[in-house]
Amino acid sequence: MSPTPQSDRPADLLGRPLRNLRISVTDRCNLRCRYCMPESEYVWLPRHSILTFEEIDRVVGIFAGLGVSKVRLTGGEPLLRHDLGSLVSLLSRHDAIADLALTTNGVLLARQAEALRAAGLRRVTVSLDTLRPERMQEFARSARHADVIAGIDAALTAGFESVKLNTVVIRGYNDDEVVELLQFARGRGVEARFIEYMDVGGATGWTMDQVVSQREILELVARCYGPVEPLREEAWAPAERFALRDGTTFGVIASTTAPFCRTCDRGRLTADGTFLLCLYGEDGLDLRELLRGGATDGEISHRIAGVWRARSDRGAEERAGLAERGILHRIESLRADPRREMHTRGG
Ligand code: SAM
Repeated sequence: MSPTPQSDRPADLLGRPLRNLRISVTDRCNLRCRYCMPESEYVWLPRHSILTFEEIDRVVGIFAGLGVSKVRLTGGEPLLRHDLGSLVSLLSRHDAIADLALTTNGVLLARQAEALRAAGLRRVTVSLDTLRPERMQEFARSARHADVIAGIDAALTAGFESVKLNTVVIRGYNDDEVVELLQFARGRGVEARFIEYMDVGGATGWTMDQVVSQREILELVARCYGPVEPLREEAWAPAERFALRDGTTFGVIASTTAPFCRTCDRGRLTADGTFLLCLYGEDGLDLRELLRGGATDGEISHRIAGVWRARSDRGAEERAGLAERGILHRIESLRADPRREMHTRGG
């Protein structure tokens, strides 16, 4: 594919380009993390509505033509999607997609890591909220902690360009493990990223007092390791990165207390093909209808560019500006519209 001329690359009303696409490949998950999918029962998207690999591949080609160069597969749990390696193979053929990454809870990673790498996956982020199996049992209703650790090790062996760990830090649950998790990551030569607890999607038990802020996370680290230096680098990345005196680096994603909407170049595709402009966004563009209704690539590209050019979303900043901040959605509204769920829209 030839490089996209600058004029085909839409910028939104705040001058933000469209460079990054997060694709939820399934709304199903094998964990029930309290901050994401706390319910036992969910209204799942109908099977026929889930985009096929061929449809995702076509859509990625169209997005690449608009300037997207980074794609991240997520969910739900993306490794639950049968034969994900075939999708990776298809997507890795797009020259314009310089970065193809996956976010996973790691439970099924050990047996898939090598094949995914061979298929062309470049980077993997594994969610790891605790080093204590009994905590995972309590918090995510899963006894698969050892499988997650095996998954991280398999990813390291498979030789991905980068392996990172994501930890959502929640007061009273795992805020006492920040230093241990950083040590764990350091010991394996991978980068830890601590995420502030967000009030998105299924976080129906969210309260501000459970949020451990970036400032507190840095204090916890500094108390153990001494001064923490901010690294000045790419302004478009969601994580702010820091370095310890020994050169160890880690990231903090301060989406709740210091959101980064002004530099958000990210669109999201739900598992059933809705293009969302913001993690907090209510409405999106139904690409599935266009894909299945006979629209040409040019027509779909035109529609995507149009909604992106009209984009002014600053969801996280607007939430942060509220005087009284509570949960975003009640459980009834999530049941009525599963696209509001984090696992459907791709966290
Ligand atoms: N199942 C995969 C996983 O666990 O990584 C991918 C989907 S998950 C929705 C993507 C990321 O969103 C995970 O790192 C998860 O910890 C994070 N996440 C989910 N709910 C969150 C919340 N309320 N606040 C902050 N991060 C959250």
